[in-house]
Amino acid sequence: MFVRKNNCRICGSSDLVSVLNLGDQPPANAFLKREDFKSEKAYPLNVYFCSGCNLLQLRDIVSPDILFRDYVYVSSTSRSFVEHFESYAADVAKDFDVKNKLVIDLGSNDGVLLKPFKSLGAKVLGIDPAIEIARKATQEGIETLPEFFTPDLAKDIVAKRGNAKIISANNVFAHIDDVKAVLEGADILLSGDGVFVAEFPYLVDFINKGLFDTVYHEHLSYYGVRQYFPIPK
Ligand SMILES: [Zn+2]
Repeated sequence: MFVRKNNCRICGSSDLVSVLNLGDQPPANAFLKREDFKSEKAYPLNVYFCSGCNLLQLRDIVSPDILFRDYVYVSSTSRSFVEHFESYAADVAKDFDVKNKLVIDLGSNDGVLLKPFKSLGAKVLGIDPAIEIARKATQEGIETLPEFFTPDLAKDIVAKRGNAKIISANNVFAHIDDVKAVLEGADILLSGDGVFVAEFPYLVDFINKGLFDTVYHEHLSYYGVRQYFPIPK
């Protein structure tokens, strides 16, 4: 159900120090029926600091199938989120021509970002492992593959649809354990002049504002600006 890592997912250091131990906790955002209370599972929720690269992170990785397949959080329920992604798409389209180009969003949820890209004339494709949310997004006109993004999936998309001009990943890297595989996939999928756009919660806000309530099993990493990502070969 969960695995414990001994090394930092970015720099590989084993010098990981526990800084916020919240004990065993059930997964967040899972709404249970009364009869399911007794069988609710709890997993360690302990935040570690890496002395090698300063990445704040969880070492106990709950299976992504448990956390994401029946995901219930729908992005478009937040009006400010919808507005944010409308201006985000407009900003990207101002700098890069997206008309008739393939724009792919990783962790696309209900298509909150892809809807405005579609309105701007882009060909859009969502990728999100949340089966029900992906099905609904597809039904509403934002085709969404109910998958985890991997290099193999990237190859498959290139074969069927060609390379992407834009790949976006917003508030998604915090959820990903194997960051390198996702970047390898992006490298395969992007066209030569393609652009990768990502958005992250910021470690400094986390510390200054005491955002301990953003610690839950989905959030494996709490990034600052000093961690570097492993660049695919
Ligand atoms: Zn590290």
